[in-house]
Amino acid sequence: MIVLTSGKLTLLDESFNWVSVLNDQQWAYLDQYEIDNNIRRITLSDSPDPVLGVSIYDQNNWGNDKTQSMIKADNAIADEMFSGAGIKFNAALDTLGLYHTPVSIAGATVEAKPILYFKKDSTYPEDTIAALYMKLPDGRERLSFYFGFGDWSLNCIILNHIWINWGTRGIYNGFRRVYFTAHIDDVFLATELVDPKNNIIEGETQFRTTTKDFDNIKKYQKEIVKKMNPGSTYQVELAFNGNGVLIEADYDKSLQVFGERLVDLEFKKEPGQGTKNWPEENYQFKFSESLLKQDKLYTYFQNKANREEFYWSSHTFTHENLDNASRSDVDNEIRVNIEMAKRFGLVNEDGTSEKWWSGGSIITPQISGLRNRDAIEIFNQYGIHSGTGDLSRPTLCNLENPYLPYYTTMEGSNYEGFPVIPRSPSEIYYHCSTSEENTWMYNQIYREVFGKDSDWKTIIERESTRVLTLMMKLRHEAHQFHQANLRNADIKENSLLQQWTDAIVEKYNSYVNWPMISLKLDDLAKTFTDRYEIENCKASYSLIKTGGTVTGIKVSAKGKCTVPVTVPFEVERNSKFTYEQIGNDPLTIWVSLNNSSETINFKS
Ligand SMILES: [Zn+2]
Repeated sequence: MIVLTSGKLTLLDESFNWVSVLNDQQWAYLDQYEIDNNIRRITLSDSPDPVLGVSIYDQNNWGNDKTQSMIKADNAIADEMFSGAGIKFNAALDTLGLYHTPVSIAGATVEAKPILYFKKDSTYPEDTIAALYMKLPDGRERLSFYFGFGDWSLNCIILNHIWINWGTRGIYNGFRRVYFTAHIDDVFLATELVDPKNNIIEGETQFRTTTKDFDNIKKYQKEIVKKMNPGSTYQVELAFNGNGVLIEADYDKSLQVFGERLVDLEFKKEPGQGTKNWPEENYQFKFSESLLKQDKLYTYFQNKANREEFYWSSHTFTHENLDNASRSDVDNEIRVNIEMAKRFGLVNEDGTSEKWWSGGSIITPQISGLRNRDAIEIFNQYGIHSGTGDLSRPTLCNLENPYLPYYTTMEGSNYEGFPVIPRSPSEIYYHCSTSEENTWMYNQIYREVFGKDSDWKTIIERESTRVLTLMMKLRHEAHQFHQANLRNADIKENSLLQQWTDAIVEKYNSYVNWPMISLKLDDLAKTFTDRYEIENCKASYSLIKTGGTVTGIKVSAKGKCTVPVTVPFEVERNSKFTYEQIGNDPLTIWVSLNNSSETINFKS
């Protein structure tokens, strides 16, 4: 496909005239290339082209940046473009922040079909054309949008799916997938809640999730999946701290380990140094079953039927900040929590584990320990080969490409190449268990930003737009929550996690028919590290033409990687490849390469 970012690729020359960066000969070359190869042209921010009889709707008004709704035109081509991309026909689109120019095709000299309209408003007495399909007499096809695009605009991100799918005819190197996973940190610990009534952040009330809360979350997970598009899954990840069980069972027997960070946020620890907050090195976990069983959550999750409804991973044993932790403290935090995982049945004595357990990746307390070489070495010793980062910590994010992990460096961590998988913080806070508490806390943070207080409805609306934008960009970060956000059994509303999820699912469903899928920590980390391999194996893709038709795709790579290729139809199946198609998603073929090439053949 050819994508132009403005109609004639114009810029101002030295004499302040608008001229095209391409000369006539170059434009003719482009035209011929499109004719010879059936290439579709997409133009963003196009201007009306008098040669084709497309004109400005109102000669006295070139355009404006007022917010106008955009609606799909009612014709077969528009239907095909929307359904090809899996976008809902009635998706709520508008021109928020976009300069746009309504056009008219009353005098069109080519076949022209509107795709999108700007809905009539006080300025425009009728619906006017926002996007147009054109077919030239020589067969060339064009799709023009008469407004500017911005990567910050949810509207544009959604429309990108339409034109990319149309322009590529649904054949592209890549994978259209939405992963949607909620991480619940601090499971088994109790949290001091904010106190809106007394206007204090550290209130006196503590909350710890109960078996009834978990029962309802289990039920909810099954209910919400029914509201999601076909192929969806929803299973939250419980990142747990085993010490919480001891604290509940018998406080005096629990570990009293100082857990706060006393060093700078970006502190880089000297290997071999660090604090020892544990009472002893190589601490042995010797608590009796009868003691642990005094915690109702312990017996609850010893029941496999309850365990298997969630994904599980370690958040360390006591939640000690690992930035300045000594080797022996890190060893205790990791090893003793694995011991607790064994007591639950998540991990077996022989090192095998249940399939919902992730032993290969970790969510560290407060995203700590990632600049502590000793900690990273100990993670590796226990088979933990990646850690979780946070979008609010740009120094631990891959700023060049947010779709990839950040890899630690000698300079930053005294350790080269430990992958840090990004995660998105949510506006649901760790010390809030109700919408009232969360609203109060939100306003503590954002009152000055918005110049006023926001109500819960507004907060959840803003939050679902933020999350939907990430999802529509096919960003795969999991979303961070905490144990208090699961509270539901003893209050008159659903948990904050449920309310947040409901709002996002509703919004997502109004735009697309694609599945949304929860992955456990290990699998999610693998998608990020695999993608890093794809980006770095120098893969190339070409269409194979036989006679006048494309009959297949050749894929090759200099390095080792497994690359995705997506097609809108069946292909000849090859046992060397893996095929993936879920719900309304298109078929993706995963091709393993190692300095080699392979061919995907279309069905003739
Ligand atoms: Zn935590």
